[in-house]
Amino acid sequence: NAGTLQAVEAGRQSTFAMIKPDAMSQLGSVLSELTEQRLKLRIAGLRLLQLTTAQARHLYNEHQERPFFKSLVAYITSGPVLALHLTGPGAVGRWREALGPTDSAVARTSAPNSIRAKFGTDKQINAAHGSDSVAAAHRELSLMFPEWDVSDRLPSLGSDAEMV
Ligand code: UDP
Repeated sequence: NAGTLQAVEAGRQSTFAMIKPDAMSQLGSVLSELTEQRLKLRIAGLRLLQLTTAQARHLYNEHQERPFFKSLVAYITSGPVLALHLTGPGAVGRWREALGPTDSAVARTSAPNSIRAKFGTDKQINAAHGSDSVAAAHRELSLMFPEWDVSDRLPSLGSDAEMV
C-alpha cells in the first residue's frame, strides 16, 4: 500500500530498543544518546513495562539453551524496562552501533562512547537492548507492541518474520 511504499522509499527502518532495569535510574541520560550520537532516529512508540517471566522467555527465546538464560530472565524481570520502537534510516544497525559490544567491560575499551560502555556493568547487566536484524526487529516489535500492525509498515520478511 501507499504507506508501505513511502516508508521503503524514505529508507525508513524500524528497530526494537529496550532500556534494561539497571539503566532505568539513568533513563534521561540514556535517551539523550539518541541526540548525543546523532543517530537521526525517531521514537515512534514507547512503553514502560515490567516483563513477566513468560514475556522475558519469549523475548530471549533464541538463548534458551545457553547457561546464562535463567539469570538473564531473572535480571530482565527484576524491575521496569522502557520498550522503544525506533525508526529511521538504518535504524537496526545504527542502534546496535550506539549500544556497543554486548560486554560493557569490552565496550569500555573498544567503544568508550557507546551506551553500554557508559551505562552498563558487565556482559549481562549491559543497560540496553537492540534487535540484531530486521527480522528480529519485526519479531520483537510484534511481541512488545502487539497493538502495532508491523506487517503494514515493513516490507515482507518471508518465513523469518513468523512470530514465536
Ligand atoms: N548475556 C548474558 N551472558 C552472556 C551473554 C549475554 O547474560 O554471556 C545477556 C546480555 O544481557 C545480552 C543478552 O544476554 O544483552 C542477549 O545476548 P546477545 O548475545 O544476543 O547480545 P546482544 O545482542 O544483546 O548484544
